[in-house]
Amino acid sequence: MHWSIGLLRGVRRGKACSCKASPRQAARIGGPTNRIGATRVVLADLQSKTLTAFDHDVRSAFAAAAGVHPDNDAWKRACRKVAFGGLGLRKASEYADAAFISSLSSCSELASSIDGAFRAGDNVSTNHVGNAIDRINAKLPAEFQLDPSLEEIPSQKGITTKMERKSLDADLLSADVSTAMKAHLQLVSVPGSGAWLHGFPSRVAKTLIDAPLFRIAIKRRLRMPILHEPCHCPSCGTSLDIYADHALVCMCGGDRTLRHNALRDTANWFAKTAGLNPVKEKAGLLPPRPDADSIREGLTTRGRRLADIWLPQWLGNGPAPWDFAVTSGLRADEIHVSAVGAGHCTVAYEEVKR
Ligand SMILES: [Zn+2]
Repeated sequence: MHWSIGLLRGVRRGKACSCKASPRQAARIGGPTNRIGATRVVLADLQSKTLTAFDHDVRSAFAAAAGVHPDNDAWKRACRKVAFGGLGLRKASEYADAAFISSLSSCSELASSIDGAFRAGDNVSTNHVGNAIDRINAKLPAEFQLDPSLEEIPSQKGITTKMERKSLDADLLSADVSTAMKAHLQLVSVPGSGAWLHGFPSRVAKTLIDAPLFRIAIKRRLRMPILHEPCHCPSCGTSLDIYADHALVCMCGGDRTLRHNALRDTANWFAKTAGLNPVKEKAGLLPPRPDADSIREGLTTRGRRLADIWLPQWLGNGPAPWDFAVTSGLRADEIHVSAVGAGHCTVAYEEVKR
């Protein structure tokens, strides 16, 4: 709460604020932006300066609160919804037309029942309404254009989701966007990849991210440089890019194992608190491997492990193993495939684990 309250104060004052950050609150900054009541009842072109100023204040307050200063491109990505790889910091000025038209359409029937002479637009405002629909349609795919008669207008969420999808697709198809950026956009749009932004910060559950790591996580999500210039990886000597993609997949230093174990331990904690009686690293579930089997991973002196976590009962279907794997779609041998679809690296690695 600390962080979001400070941010909102900063927005209200039009000044930067200073407070602690957490991913959950970062993800919810977009809420107030979306909930500006004025966008639902006042046409955007009648309050464009106010909306632009508000968006500017949100950006300034975000930079001060999170300690991250995105350039215009990165800020554009931050303003996308979490499901499209952003932080959900939607621009009021960009979506005000959708809020107004959707509200106007949804209340027209009720307004007409109250006042038989009600019309969605009088002589003066009709042009404004038409202009608003034109502005929205310019941001929508051809197959989702709004009807100027205001018939069958989707919800605000439905309209803005289609607008954002078009914006994201434009980047994914653009010849000016690098393959690495396209792979990144695909990967951060995978369902669940932004779930950490909504996680409740808890030291006990190990879901609390300290400030330096939080800033790096935000920068990585927005694909902002972590380093000033490329250098050599201190662990393996390979080239380390400015976005630190290599750090995710470096074979040395043990970080991959640390990430795997952190993932396993967090899942184990949640399973335990849910009363599922998980057993971590349960051994002896499979017979020992034959000598010819050269795969050493998972061997124990008592027999092979079946999984990282074993549940005696899962969804009423008997025991179940949970096994975790850490990989990255930004690996050099995966990046071109990831640029056209994010699922390949996980499906391929799952096959390896089988
Ligand atoms: Zn390395």
